[in-house]
Amino acid sequence: MPTCKHCDREFNPAELVSHETDRLRLVHCPACEAPLGSYRKHGQREPSSERR
Ligand SMILES: [Zn+2]
Repeated sequence: MPTCKHCDREFNPAELVSHETDRLRLVHCPACEAPLGSYRKHGQREPSSERR
């Protein structure tokens, strides 16, 4: 379950606010609107903080 790093709350994915851009879906916290991450539209999950 996604947790907001800003207000430290947990949310169901369905609760999150999302904005779609050309290729990405950006997900925001519904409480404080902090960005939680971005996802590829083709069902491929791509966290904004990659470990490389
Ligand atoms: Zn938040």
